[in-house]
Amino acid sequence: MDGSTALIAGGGIGGLTLALELHAAGIPCRVFEAAPELRPLGVGVNILPHASAVLDGLGLTPAMAEIAIETIESGFFNRFGQEIFTEPAGKRAGYDHAQWSVHRGDFQMMLYRTVVERLGEDAVQLDHKLIGFEQDADGVTAHFQSLATGEPLPSARGGILVGADGIHSAVRKQLYPNEGRPRYSGIKMWRGTSVAPAFLSGATMVRAGWLQDGKLVIYPIRENVDGQGNQLVNWVAELETDFEADRNWGARGDLEEFIGAFEDWTFDWLDVPALIRSSEAIFEYPMVDQDPLEQWTFGRVTLLGDAAHPMVPRGSNGAGQAILDAPVLRRFLETAASPAEALAQYEAVRLPATTAVVLKNRDTPPDAILREVWERTDDKPFDDIGTVISHDELVALSNSYKTVAGFAVPVGGDGE
Ligand SMILES: Cc1cc2nc3c(=O)[nH]c(=O)nc-3n(C[C@H](O)[C@H](O)[C@H](O)COP(=O)(O)OP(=O)(O)OC[C@H]3O[C@@H](n4cnc5c(N)ncnc54)[C@H](O)[C@@H]3O)c2cc1C
Repeated sequence: MDGSTALIAGGGIGGLTLALELHAAGIPCRVFEAAPELRPLGVGVNILPHASAVLDGLGLTPAMAEIAIETIESGFFNRFGQEIFTEPAGKRAGYDHAQWSVHRGDFQMMLYRTVVERLGEDAVQLDHKLIGFEQDADGVTAHFQSLATGEPLPSARGGILVGADGIHSAVRKQLYPNEGRPRYSGIKMWRGTSVAPAFLSGATMVRAGWLQDGKLVIYPIRENVDGQGNQLVNWVAELETDFEADRNWGARGDLEEFIGAFEDWTFDWLDVPALIRSSEAIFEYPMVDQDPLEQWTFGRVTLLGDAAHPMVPRGSNGAGQAILDAPVLRRFLETAASPAEALAQYEAVRLPATTAVVLKNRDTPPDAILREVWERTDDKPFDDIGTVISHDELVALSNSYKTVAGFAVPVGGDGE
């Protein structure tokens, strides 16, 4: 490894995408991942068209088509199963690129395999937990520990260090040792995956209900998992509660804590309680984010993905915004006069863009449509949605989120 190598802490979605971008630009890089082995962890994530465009640029569309479901529409329903609004998604909505619904673990493993294929076996150093770094005029030195044994490992020297090490980022902690606790939104999520027959179009992302009484997000993420045509369906149940848990993607949740809110959600198009009960495992996660930082870049060190801009997972944008960071950083590393200048230019583009998404997710995420209808109907069934809210208002609510998150339907192709 020489002094121009980019050191990337974290082999998650953002770190691995960055490795592929840098490799495509001929910039040497090395990923250091804390986990001793990469396993397909997590449940479903959505990759919106602007992020799919980045993956397409990396030649990953065929691989995505193999592991993911191409979402064709997004539907909003009340807790009685009545349809409020359905709009086309991905290519059907006029984007050049698909919206992918995918198991996070399948996606990370695909990125990992691609990095190993293109950059070689050594490109990702597993069991390398970053524990600190220092920089001087010529480069950065990063220090590591084995997560498996706790033993110190040899340090690495490079030209830059990118902290792509997720919500508990060690890089961020060193830059901001006194940062406060995450900001709890008052909502807890329970998540899982179940094997079930296709519902609605078979490729619909559903958001239903509202948080006080129970809200649900459901979408399929794998086709024909059992040879009988059933899909793997991702579900997320959300409820307002004062009880705040720590951020741990692997924390197990308790069915009895939330199933009561969904017990009568038996629609003619989906039996929600049956779907939830058949889940392989249930995870819980608090809906939290952190106040946007004013600075990510300090000389030769910067942040990317959740380490830079953790956001509440309400607009399908956590993975997408991490992916979008990568080509911008690559572009400035290719063109800027020095590494420090490249990182500063990257921050100047991506920090304001992601800050806007973090804040938008707090107050008017796409499910604001559900809140509006919940308030206007006093949480009762309606006879005609047109008397509750006009189609134009529904479209305006949906589009306002897309514009801030950077995926407004383009006139001539996907924007950034
Ligand atoms: C195990 C796991 C499960 C997840 N499940 C879901 C899910 O079901 N749904 C969802 O929406 N989002 C999930 N996420 C988060 C989601 O992947 C991110 O919000 C998003 O993809 C942004 O990607 P990222 O690369 O910034 O962060 P992540 O994808 O979280 O990647 C961060 C990586 O950094 C590694 N890391 C952490 N600390 C260090 C360190 N000190 N040194 C080296 N490496 C380190 C982590 O092991 C991880 O691989 C999960 C994340 C993880 C780690």
